[in-house]
Amino acid sequence: MIAENLQEIKLNLPKNVTLVAVSKTKPIIDIQEVYNAGQRIFGENRIQEMVDKYEKLPKDIKWHMIGHLQRNKVKYMAHFVDLIHGVDDFKTLKEIDKQAKKHNRIINCLLQAHIAEEDTKFGLSFNEIEEILASKELTELKNVNITGLMGMATFTDDKEQIKKEFSSLKTLFDKLQNKNPNIKTLSMGMSGDYLLGINCGSTMVRIGSSIFGSRNYIV
Ligand SMILES: *Cc1c(COP(=O)(O)O)cnc(C)c1O
Repeated sequence: MIAENLQEIKLNLPKNVTLVAVSKTKPIIDIQEVYNAGQRIFGENRIQEMVDKYEKLPKDIKWHMIGHLQRNKVKYMAHFVDLIHGVDDFKTLKEIDKQAKKHNRIINCLLQAHIAEEDTKFGLSFNEIEEILASKELTELKNVNITGLMGMATFTDDKEQIKKEFSSLKTLFDKLQNKNPNIKTLSMGMSGDYLLGINCGSTMVRIGSSIFGSRNYIV
C-alpha cells in the first residue's frame, strides 16, 4: 500500500523535482518499505528521532531535517545530515557551521522563508534572507553552504492564497539565483499542496501523509 502511494506520487513529479519522503512519527518497518521501493531521501522534523532512525536504517539514505531546529541538538546530526531545510536565523547557521567543522563536512542548508499568513509558522522575512546571503559574516562560515529556500504555505483550502504565497517565494528564489549560482533548491509543497508548489516552480517537495498515511498525532 505504502509502496503504491509512492509510485503514484512519483508519476506526478516532473524529472527536475526531488521527492523527500517525510517519515516523521512513522515506524522503521514503514520506512524500510518505502526504501525497498527505491526511495532514498527521507525527511524528519525532530533531531533525536532522525538520529534513532539513521542508526537503524541503511546508510545510503539521505536524511533531511525539515523541522524547526533546536540549536543545542544540531551536534547530534552534524555527522550525517544531508540537507537542513529549516534554518531561520544566523545563530543557528553559526552552530551548524561549528558542528560541521568538527566532522570536516560542509552541510547544505536552506533558509526558511515566512510566507504563510499564520504567525505560528517559523521563517525569515525576504529582507532578512537577502541580508544573510549578502553578509560578510556568512562568508566566514566555511562549513555551511546555503543551497536554496524553503517555505510553507498557509494551511487553507484557498488555492489562490497558496499560489500567491508560493509565487512570491519563487520570485525571490529567481532573483537570488541570478546573483548566486549556489542557490538551486526551492523546497515548497507538502501532501496537500505539492502540485500547486510544482506549478509555482518548486524543485523539491516534502510529502508525508500521502505516502505513509495519516499520522497518529499532530506534530
Ligand atoms: C510534516 C511536514 C511535511 C509533510 O506533511 P504532509 O502533509 O504529511 O505531507 C512537510 N514539511 C514539513 C516542514 C513538515 O513538518
